[in-house]
Amino acid sequence: MRNLKAEVVRNAAKQKGWDSILQSLCPEIETRAFDKPGRHVRCPVHGKPSRGGDGFRFLNKKIPFAEAGGGVCNTCGLFPDGFALLQWLKRIDFADAVALVGDELGIRSTDDEHAQERINRENKSKLDERRREFEEKERASNLYLRSRLNQIWSETLPLTHTDAEPARLYLASRKILCWDKPGAARVVRFHPRLASYNEDGEFEGEFPGIVAKVTREGVPITLHRYFLTDKGLKAPVESSKKMCSYPTDRLVTGGGIIIGNLDAEVVHVCEGLETAWAIETGMDQEIDVFPTVNATLLESFTPGPNTKMVVIWADKDRSGRGEEAALELKRRLWEKGIKAQIMMPSLPIADGDKSVDWNDVLIQLGRMGFPKRRRAVA
Ligand SMILES: [Zn+2]
Repeated sequence: MRNLKAEVVRNAAKQKGWDSILQSLCPEIETRAFDKPGRHVRCPVHGKPSRGGDGFRFLNKKIPFAEAGGGVCNTCGLFPDGFALLQWLKRIDFADAVALVGDELGIRSTDDEHAQERINRENKSKLDERRREFEEKERASNLYLRSRLNQIWSETLPLTHTDAEPARLYLASRKILCWDKPGAARVVRFHPRLASYNEDGEFEGEFPGIVAKVTREGVPITLHRYFLTDKGLKAPVESSKKMCSYPTDRLVTGGGIIIGNLDAEVVHVCEGLETAWAIETGMDQEIDVFPTVNATLLESFTPGPNTKMVVIWADKDRSGRGEEAALELKRRLWEKGIKAQIMMPSLPIADGDKSVDWNDVLIQLGRMGFPKRRRAVA
């Protein structure tokens, strides 16, 4: 039935649990997403396989997934609750999404609706209790994540340390020269034994690696890790670059790996740390480039009050994601009256590769692949 009271259906859905409702209504979402809410899976709408953490997942922070039923795809957008998720997935309007969930819960008439309202009232305290338990668990988990981040960071060494050879070999293989620039040692360091787990939580081994501090407005949020071998190659793990889990009361949006003064008149940004350092190397270290870690964070980059111009050094991805993020950032900046310019890598994407970035330009073309400084900031 259309035009059911959304609040009645929403409360009934909370009691039943959005997890079981959505699993029954949405066979197009991979079961693995339900097994562990928060795990990334292939997006059920745009379909491309996940790339370095991209893709679809259910939301399970602050509010439990079973209670809200929300999800997010890094490409398609954020769907804060089960109704919004169904509207997107089934291409239906709000009233139809409510009717669909109502039908699944056996609420199909005004009589059903009244009966359900009574049940909702009776079960309110049970729901409150469940929410308190979730919040208690989350508080404990946040405490653990904080101490784990501090622990990892306390075990790091500067990249100049004798033991940091794997990091220096890796950076040399990427033709990066500026890793010892002033201030870098406080933000980017070496860890001799980083434990790696894949997305299913399976232990993959311990590896040396580079650890970078992600901050937002000067406040540390999390750590980004690059897993390597002793010889300075990418470690043989599912994903050799991973962000550490961080407490749910911290916000990473708008953050990045910030070395030096972010609030300059002209600011350069890009996605990855190697890309930033490759651009600095290619531009004879005359500019600072701030990596935001990934496309989603690039999109949400927020400059300081003194910035008048942002140069966005984009990744060229076959999926178009890098350019899309750069365009979105440019649009946001122009809205604020800040000039923005997008720099695309001059190389084509090689057959079989998923993307090309400014680090590839440095490796293949050297400094010749980079614009003259005058042109870059004119
Ligand atoms: Zn999607």
